[in-house]
Amino acid sequence: MQIPGHIDPVTTGTVPLRGGNRIDLVGLTRDAIRAELVEAGLDAKAAKLRAKQIWHWIYHRGVTDFEAMTDIAKSMRPWLTDRYIIGRPTVREAQVSNDGTRKWLLAAADGQEYEMVFIPDADRGTLCVSSQVGCTLNCRFCHTGTMRLVRNLAAGEIVGQVLLARDALGEWPKGTMASAPDTDDEDDDAGHYTSDGRMLTNIVMMGMGEPLYNFDEVKGALKIVMDGDGLALSKRRITLSTSGVVPMMARAGEEIGVNLAVSLHAVNKEIRDEIVPLNRKYGIEELLQACADYPGANNARRITFEYVMLKDKNDSDEDARELVRLIKQYKLPAKVNLIPFNPWPGAPYECSTPERVRKFSNLIFEAGISAPIRTPRGRDIMAACGQLKSAATKPTRAELDRIAEEKQAALG
Ligand code: SAH
Ligand code: SF4
Repeated sequence: MQIPGHIDPVTTGTVPLRGGNRIDLVGLTRDAIRAELVEAGLDAKAAKLRAKQIWHWIYHRGVTDFEAMTDIAKSMRPWLTDRYIIGRPTVREAQVSNDGTRKWLLAAADGQEYEMVFIPDADRGTLCVSSQVGCTLNCRFCHTGTMRLVRNLAAGEIVGQVLLARDALGEWPKGTMASAPDTDDEDDDAGHYTSDGRMLTNIVMMGMGEPLYNFDEVKGALKIVMDGDGLALSKRRITLSTSGVVPMMARAGEEIGVNLAVSLHAVNKEIRDEIVPLNRKYGIEELLQACADYPGANNARRITFEYVMLKDKNDSDEDARELVRLIKQYKLPAKVNLIPFNPWPGAPYECSTPERVRKFSNLIFEAGISAPIRTPRGRDIMAACGQLKSAATKPTRAELDRIAEEKQAALG
């Protein structure tokens, strides 16, 4: 998408259709499904009813085959099958870490690859979802930032990750495709479905890409994820992480309304310019002001500041004190998430020592601000924060510098 008034760093192509000429219904709004059905010849009233039924089957029941839609007349199902599909990303590779974290390498219809990660915990299960193939930005500590090829993921490809995770975790209610009784009866077992005890409870837009550089598709996808007659995840269980695309932050709050995480990572211009180059476009003051203005942020719903711990770069006591000062100066309802740097081949940084991270965390806690240290998850399968990259190559330092320069030039 073009960001109004600003240069969008990389133009992205259109997404080819999966399933030949058939239209993939995943990612379309209910209204768009209805419009498709009208276009294909149904009258307005029938289209409205069918759209509602199809929506329910796709997002509440996880069905991918029209034949399983038992409240739609048998004679109509082949008509739907001829015209539409309910797609899933192709799974190229699925890996499980020794800590239970799972990572999937997925392929879009055009062969572009992206990754998603599931992180199980005692009290929750978090799906880390990608918004782009690669990333137009190139934070120096992030593996995804070294990818040259970038395209936005479509809403359907973003929601598709959630649907696929539900498939893989076996979390659809009974009566899905495989076991649905083949009758024209109304869907009578929907009432048995409860959200209790489900594994996938939270979503973080923290996979590959910068979600606010793909605003419309991310918004469309999250609206679907939050829709009450479907996946029905509460906005309180969804977090969108941005590296600081300031002009889109207010809209994210107003139009999507999920929790906000901001990748701050440094407290002065010199260091942030180096490690999060977007800072040269939208500086720390502007970013923190946008946080202060973020709709819906309050003490019950704090903004999370992500802070990657890089040895001798951003991890001094002085940095911790300055972080506290800034949070207080802007009166931000905030918590800090300290992320030990996750290494990747060729990365130009090292992780701070555990003692340093602990001390940094203590200094912030002592000032009355929560600053837990994130336990790295899935490092052994390169699934931890900032390790995602669809093709595992080891570029030379010169190549990394070249990619950084190209992206910086494109940013303007
Ligand atoms: N593009 C978005 C969201 C994806 S990155 C953003 O930058 O916010 C999710 C989080 O992982 C961000 O806070 C990012 O800065 C952090 N991260 C990136 N590379 C990392 C690495 N190698 N080690 C630890 N955290 C990293
Ligand atoms: Fe992109 Fe986020 Fe990685 Fe920065 S940290 S390069 S914005 S994915």
